[in-house]
This record gives sequence, structure tokens and C-alpha cells, in this order.
Amino acid sequence: MMRVMTWHGGDKFTLDQIPDPTAKPGRVVVKVDTIGVCGTDVHITQGLFPSTPPKVLGHEGSGVIVEVGDGVDKSRIGDRVVMNTTSHCGVCSACTTWSESRCENADLTSGMFAEYATAPTQSAVKIPDDLDLEQAALTEPASCCLSGSEMMRIDEGGIGVVIGGGIMGLFTLAFLKRRGVERMIMSEPVAARREMARQFGADLLHDPADGDLSDFVKDHNDGYGANLAAEAVGRPELVAKCVEVVRPRGQVLIIGVAPEGAPLPVDLYDMHYREITVKGAFGRGDVFARTPEEINKLDLSGVISGRYDLQNVPQAIVDSGEGKGVKFVIKP
Ligand SMILES: [Zn+2]
Ligand SMILES: [Zn+2]
Repeated sequence: MMRVMTWHGGDKFTLDQIPDPTAKPGRVVVKVDTIGVCGTDVHITQGLFPSTPPKVLGHEGSGVIVEVGDGVDKSRIGDRVVMNTTSHCGVCSACTTWSESRCENADLTSGMFAEYATAPTQSAVKIPDDLDLEQAALTEPASCCLSGSEMMRIDEGGIGVVIGGGIMGLFTLAFLKRRGVERMIMSEPVAARREMARQFGADLLHDPADGDLSDFVKDHNDGYGANLAAEAVGRPELVAKCVEVVRPRGQVLIIGVAPEGAPLPVDLYDMHYREITVKGAFGRGDVFARTPEEINKLDLSGVISGRYDLQNVPQAIVDSGEGKGVKFVIKP
């Protein structure tokens, strides 16, 4: 028997004992090492992101393959892996034209707030030998940021802004910088998060309490706005702020998850006149499998701010929602 944390709607969870999973054809069983608590998990329990209970949540897991089903190479047993939440067929319209993570024939990985999870063998992606399993659990959120950052046009010598120094903002900043944005600004009210942004490549740190972000950008850019700005908080007024801080032909990336139904409070005349582009960035696109190598190039020390047992998933979700740290993880 294995332990699994089941969500029953709202903030209700039960710790259940269920039979150990077996590997179906084409799938593997993974002994879960670490699962990140995601903003999406927080939003689901707050009713801000649609999901239907009862359900095992948790989609940012790493672990070791302990069993394989028919058709899967036995040599995979023992592989250290991160789990993608979906597989991709490679032949459907989504796979061939724009995004594997939107595959129309996707097979799902099981919920990971559990001792074991099962995944299509393709979705259990081997990680570099020198990347530890705990840090590897950051792959899923990082992949969304990598995918989003790769949607952006990079202007030579440009300046970029990220609003929000949580895990999504930090990864977005790091990947934009690595893609060639010359200078990156992190705007974040919490000092500890601002400082962590340096570790991820921030050149300039802005505290909203010290003055307006638009003025800050212009002061550091010869009076011009930024080439691009990313919102990584999930507040409509901050997306509007991104529109404000970019220069003509500037680009805005929406990484944060705003509440469903939230309108964008911007002046459409201004967007038209200044030719601003706004892009949504939700998912992993086509980049999940190469994300472990990309995060292995970053200094991830101190990013994991708290570790919880499986029975403390509800507390981890509450703490995560309060923005006390950067990333909380579950160790089943
Ligand atoms: Zn996530
Ligand atoms: Zn497909």
C-alpha cells in the first residue's frame, strides 16, 4: 500500500492508503522524491483555477523509475527522472504546428502528491547526473518560463523588466538574460526575493516602495522604455504596468496567472499607437525535455524555502499561497 494525498474541493484533503500502482503497457512507475507546490495548486484550492475533485494534485515531481510496463526498455529502471504531466504523440495538429504540451492525444501522468506516480515512459525525462532530484523538481515551472521566454523577440542591447520575484519571475528573468537581453531589471517589493534575483542574472533591482517602475526604467535607459516586460505575479494592474513600461514596439509577456475573468485595464489607443505586443505564456510548449539541462546551468541554491511531509501538503499549500518563500516542496 502507498500513501496519497487526495483533494476533495476547497481546502479539504485526506491522506489515503491505496494499493501500490503497477506499470501499464508503455508506462513507468516512479518512486517520488520531491514534488513542488505550484501556484496552480494554491489557485485550485482557492477556486481560482478550474479543477474537479476528488483528485490527487501535484505536477512538479522528480523521482526514480522502479518499474516499467510492457514495451518499455527494462534498462529504464533506476533512471533519475522528472515527470512531464502529459505525453505528446508527435503527429497531431498541435504537435506538428505549435505545441507538444497541447497534444490532442496526450496521455496523463498521475497526480504526484503520493509515494509513487505513474507516467508514460516518454514523460519520465532523464535528468543530468549532476542535477539533484530536489532541484530537478523545479523543471516544470522552469519549462513554462523557458517556453515563454522563447516566444519573445530579443533586441540587441535591449533592456528587460520582470515584475515579481517568485519562482516564475526568477526563471523568466534568467532565461531572458541567457537569451541575450543585455540588462534585466527585477521589480519586487520583498528584499530577500530581490536579492535572489541577482543570483538569476538581474542587473538592476527595483523596489516599488522607492518609486515608479516607469521612471526607474527610463532613468536607466537614456529616457526610453524597456524592450520587453514580463508580469509574473498574476495581477491585471501589473500587466497594465508592463504595457506602460515598454517602449514603442515593446513586448509584454504574461507569465502570472490572473483570476479567471480578469479584464486587462489598458488604454487600447495607447497599445495601438505604440504598437505593443502582449503574449500569454501558460505552458511548457515544446521545451520540457531540455529544461533539466537549462536549469542545471543556473545557481539554484536557496530556492527551496521549505520541505514538508506528505501529510502536510495542506499546510504547504497555505504557506506557499502566502508568498513567504520562493518554492516549497513535498518529500513523500
Ligand atoms: Zn506548476
Ligand atoms: Zn500530439
